[in-house]
Amino acid sequence: MTSSFSNLSLAEPLARAVAEMGYESMTPIQAQAIPVVLTGKDVMGAAQTGTGKTAAFSLPLLQRLLKHENSSTSPARHPVRALVLLPTRELADQVAQQIALYAKHTKLRSTVVFGGMDMKPQTLELKKGVEVLVATPGRLLDHIEAKNAVLNQVEYVVLDEADRMLDIGFLPDLQRILSYLPKQRTTLLFSATFSPEIKRLAGSYLQDPVTIEVARPNETASTVEQHFYSAGDEDKRRAVHQVLRSREIKQAFIFVNSKLGCARLARSLEREGLKTAALHGDKSQDERLKALDAFKQGAVDLLVCTDVAARGLDIKDVPAVFNFDVPFNAEDYVHRIGRTGRAGASGLAVTLVSGSDARLVADIEKLLKKKIEIEALEYDEDRPRGRINDGRRHWRDAEGDEPGQGAGRSERSARAPRSPSRYAPAAPRDPFFDQPYETPADAPKPSWEAAERPSTGRVSPNIKPKRKVAALFKAQDSVA
Ligand code: AMP
Repeated sequence: MTSSFSNLSLAEPLARAVAEMGYESMTPIQAQAIPVVLTGKDVMGAAQTGTGKTAAFSLPLLQRLLKHENSSTSPARHPVRALVLLPTRELADQVAQQIALYAKHTKLRSTVVFGGMDMKPQTLELKKGVEVLVATPGRLLDHIEAKNAVLNQVEYVVLDEADRMLDIGFLPDLQRILSYLPKQRTTLLFSATFSPEIKRLAGSYLQDPVTIEVARPNETASTVEQHFYSAGDEDKRRAVHQVLRSREIKQAFIFVNSKLGCARLARSLEREGLKTAALHGDKSQDERLKALDAFKQGAVDLLVCTDVAARGLDIKDVPAVFNFDVPFNAEDYVHRIGRTGRAGASGLAVTLVSGSDARLVADIEKLLKKKIEIEALEYDEDRPRGRINDGRRHWRDAEGDEPGQGAGRSERSARAPRSPSRYAPAAPRDPFFDQPYETPADAPKPSWEAAERPSTGRVSPNIKPKRKVAALFKAQDSVA
């Protein structure tokens, strides 16, 4: 099987769009799925996000829709021919953007509808007529009920991230939507896992599907360095700070299990001086897109998110992922840490494990078929400071020490190896070090002091401004 797009005989407008995207060769899911979808067969694909599966289904689908291409202004000439269903607004938005790019040199129209946004602009788009409709199930049903979307000419339906749609409880909505579609159609189902529920769904709605599997759900990239640190709930934020500081990490995803926990943690980390945004289901669409954009631009360093909100986000090269909560579902562990160490880059995945998480960790062990070692995390502030017993000068045991400054370094090195580049070899014994140490007047502030919460400046969108109660009293006093 070749992996070059040029051997696919894609129509010129599609081939041109692919070339403009800069894709050189097909990803494994594309190499396997595109030829099958081009034949019009149903497909059941096991592929995670980040594998290129959007192009895997949308390129052949667009190719087969080209026969309907027309430049008529009549909406009747542009009925919905392909429906792509996704579990979240972000995913729907991302997939719609990709489809629009692939279709940009064709006359095929596409649009996206999802909840949390005004229905009116979506209605206008739908009324103009679109060949490819990307949607989340709930909002699509709203449009069907309002008679904005008519699905009786759909030839292709894609159930993307189907396992996640079932997890969220979209099955009844999916069943209703599928009941509006013609029986004669091609159905493509993509899911990270083939659970019994997914197989049942496929059994009911797919006809003789070709099964394509490219990445098993229990595979984690070998480029991800995984650590499980023991941390009580009260120590977890401190652990995040410690890892960020000691590994010099610039940006990270932090996963939590609940929306409430997500909002709270984002607020706390923001108060502690970290540029943080929260991404969870209760955020408005506008807030979510802004948070994502801020992270992509580097204006936000930490994105605290729930699994549903983060699934499939097209953010590459996140240097680290924290599991602030051990996920309830072991497969989510694989999804979460799949955000880092992509495309051969090295990544770090840190899971903070509290006393009550033993069963969840055991589930991950079972899925990964690997023994997990729970490590103790060493905190800078717990290391001994002050005079080291070898009679040498005091030194500051924290980042910000200058190379060679710490003559007592060997004791610390035994406890936690530091990056060799940051520290010079141990200094030879010198009478100078037998004198009591005095801080030079112009010594730089140690980083643990410098990193204290900034007193002024930027206020996060997560923090609601506090009412200035004292100021109010003063105002009343002056009236009285
Ligand atoms: P997906 O898994 O569809 O969300 O795609 C993940 C990312 O891979 C997107 O940013 C795509 O633009 C990109 N991508 C898709 N196909 C290819 C390809 N053949 N070569 C390089 N990048 C690709």
